[in-house]
Amino acid sequence: MDKFIDQLPFFTPEHRNLASAVASFVEEQIEPRAIEERDVDGGTRDYVSVLASAGLLRYAVASHDKRFDVRSLCLIREALAYSSALADLAFVMQGLGTYAISQAAPEHVRDFWVLRAAEGRAIAAFALTEPEAGSDVSAIRTTAQRDGDAWVIDGSKRFISNAGVADFYTVFARTGTQTGGRADLSAFVVSARMPGFTVVERTEMISPHPIGEIAFNGCRVPAEDMVGPEGDGFVLAMRTLDTFRASVGAAACGMARRALDESLRYAANRKQFGRLLAEHQLIQEKLADMITELDAARLLVYRAAYLKDIRTGRASREASEAKLYATEAAGRIIDQAVQIHGGAGLVRGSVVERLYRDVRALRIYEGTSEIQKLIIAGQLLKE
Ligand SMILES: Cc1cc2nc3c(=O)[nH]c(=O)nc-3n(C[C@H](O)[C@H](O)[C@H](O)COP(=O)(O)OP(=O)(O)OC[C@H]3O[C@@H](n4cnc5c(N)ncnc54)[C@H](O)[C@@H]3O)c2cc1C
Repeated sequence: MDKFIDQLPFFTPEHRNLASAVASFVEEQIEPRAIEERDVDGGTRDYVSVLASAGLLRYAVASHDKRFDVRSLCLIREALAYSSALADLAFVMQGLGTYAISQAAPEHVRDFWVLRAAEGRAIAAFALTEPEAGSDVSAIRTTAQRDGDAWVIDGSKRFISNAGVADFYTVFARTGTQTGGRADLSAFVVSARMPGFTVVERTEMISPHPIGEIAFNGCRVPAEDMVGPEGDGFVLAMRTLDTFRASVGAAACGMARRALDESLRYAANRKQFGRLLAEHQLIQEKLADMITELDAARLLVYRAAYLKDIRTGRASREASEAKLYATEAAGRIIDQAVQIHGGAGLVRGSVVERLYRDVRALRIYEGTSEIQKLIIAGQLLKE
């Protein structure tokens, strides 16, 4: 098992056992699939099914009566991202797409979707972003209007992970407008089979990722499918992001750790100027920077996860610090890994080339680095 986890004070023996079991699972079940990752939709479904069979999805999908364990979430994301960004995404989307439902939906709605997601029988998505509302969630234009015993949703969402693969979406829509124009948001669970729901387009990204634009045209959703009270959508969306934010940092650490391992192996085998790369001091400097940044990132991630687990309130500043630092550091570490590999690091299909593309999205989704800085400073000034 990776020694770092053993050295940290943040974990229980169960966490350490989980980390070790997941590392073996990833080596046996995920790594061989990651090499073959071409069919993004099929791969996503396959990963959901494999993760469900291993009993891992229950660590991503919150339950209403048990405290959600962010440390387990982070340990699993780090291990999955070490081998496959797509497996990591398949895992975490089951959680992001169900968190609000698990906390606030009526009991029968909650049990229906949460159970299916945890067992891998339904694929979840989280639909917040719109063409005019990215970082600024209050600019959401999608509306939901009450009509008898239903809500009628109209509008569109873009950059929605699992668009076209998901069986259901947690959708945030405007149900009122405050003075000044900010949206009063409410959350809804929308089945992909609902008339009026369409997947408008799939968006090709820099690395394999099932994502696209969805639209609602007079999409009637039963009133019971509103998640939480009317007007609680913003709080539910922010609570979801706050809970999962540190885990984006964990995924970044998984990718960075893989890049470092690949670099150590390469530097210990490749000779130039009659010596191994590992014997050149400029390469050693890179390796030293990489491990130092990785250790710092992991410390921030697992501190944030630990605080979220033990505190009754939020740990927003620590989660944002973890996400900000780990995703930015992973970008630098993977860039150094490409440099150490020379031309071999740019060859399509090589591990570091794949990591170089995979890691970029983490600095943008679930709040860009700039937005994390605003959260950190905002909290700091309040403390
Ligand atoms: C791979 C991927 C998966 C995604 N999955 C989902 C998903 O499943 N569900 C979902 O709802 N969304 C998803 N998103 C959307 C993602 O959350 C948004 O892309 C992100 O919040 C940024 O919004 P934007 O792209 O509109 O950029 P913008 O908000 O337009 O920002 C553009 C730039 O301006 C900066 N900026 C914005 N406001 C400020 C400010 N106040 N101060 C300083 N700088 C600022 C940003 O940091 C950024 O650098 C995903 C995105 C990606 C790339």
